[in-house]
Amino acid sequence: MEDLSKTMQKLMNQRHLNDNYRQLMAKTANDPEVKKFLQDHEGELAADVLTRSAAKLYEFVTERAKVANGGETFAAGYEPRLIVSNHLIDVAYVPTAQTQERQAQQQLRQRVKSIAMPKSIREATLANFDQDDDRAEALMAALDFIDAYEANPKRRHQALYLAGSFGVGKTYLLAAVAHQLATDGFATTLVHFPSFAVEMKNAIAQNGVADKLESLKKAPVLMIDDIGADAMSAWVRDDILGVILEYRMQEELPTFFSSNFSMAQLEKEHLRISTRGDDEPLKAQRLMQRIRFLAREITMVGVNRRPQ
Ligand code: ADP
Ligand code: MG
Repeated sequence: MEDLSKTMQKLMNQRHLNDNYRQLMAKTANDPEVKKFLQDHEGELAADVLTRSAAKLYEFVTERAKVANGGETFAAGYEPRLIVSNHLIDVAYVPTAQTQERQAQQQLRQRVKSIAMPKSIREATLANFDQDDDRAEALMAALDFIDAYEANPKRRHQALYLAGSFGVGKTYLLAAVAHQLATDGFATTLVHFPSFAVEMKNAIAQNGVADKLESLKKAPVLMIDDIGADAMSAWVRDDILGVILEYRMQEELPTFFSSNFSMAQLEKEHLRISTRGDDEPLKAQRLMQRIRFLAREITMVGVNRRPQ
């Protein structure tokens, strides 16, 4: 007696399961996305694909529902997609649009390497660069550079030396160019030169000078921000700046500058005089030759845009 009831129970459970199962599969097979997939791939799929890939179809529908409800799938940030595999159906997980966007943003940020630059430069874009007549020339020159460089990154391209007083937007424009290059897949290094010089002095003790120097020498595009803002020692001028510029000139690597000084002022008032007070016109001249080879001077005028 007992055995019989057990068997009955088992049969009933099975039947129940089968009903559930059938219902579930009918629902799955009627799912518009599943239906379309089955239609689109009819020729590639085995005749009994619905039975043999039932579990995969079910997985697809349930995981997709989780994503739609904002829940976590077993691979966070990924969503299921049906694929054909060996005449059967499988589920692949691909990054959601949100994940793709985040990954793209991350890549973008990685393409702009900044050394001692304020965080706010991340927000700078050419689209937000409000142009007035005073700054149109600089913006045009920047756009021309981007076009020319992107069309032919291996060729020599003269970059810009943005000269102009405090707060006119020199750093902003450099950052916006870097941002645009990054969006188009090109890497840039932006360095606040006075801070970098201090970093280099500190690096002497840790034997770190060579490494730091190397990354600036070889950056695909380098932007030296605020050159001339602080007095430079002869060592920084000749063994750091001089070495970087010499290499970049030889290799014809695009190099931007921004300065509160014009080129002429930089040479006469800044590079000539070392912090020790020595007057070294020849050294200043050689350095300026390199800067002139790498960049063309553009004067930016206008109001001080810094929040007062
Ligand atoms: P500079 O490097 O010439 O001293 P900055 O680039 O630092 O000047 O600009 C000064 C301030 O003005 C910054 O806060 C910057 O974000 C803002 N700024 C400059 N140019 C623009 C612009 N075109 N659109 C919006 N903000 C700008
Ligand atoms: Mg600046």
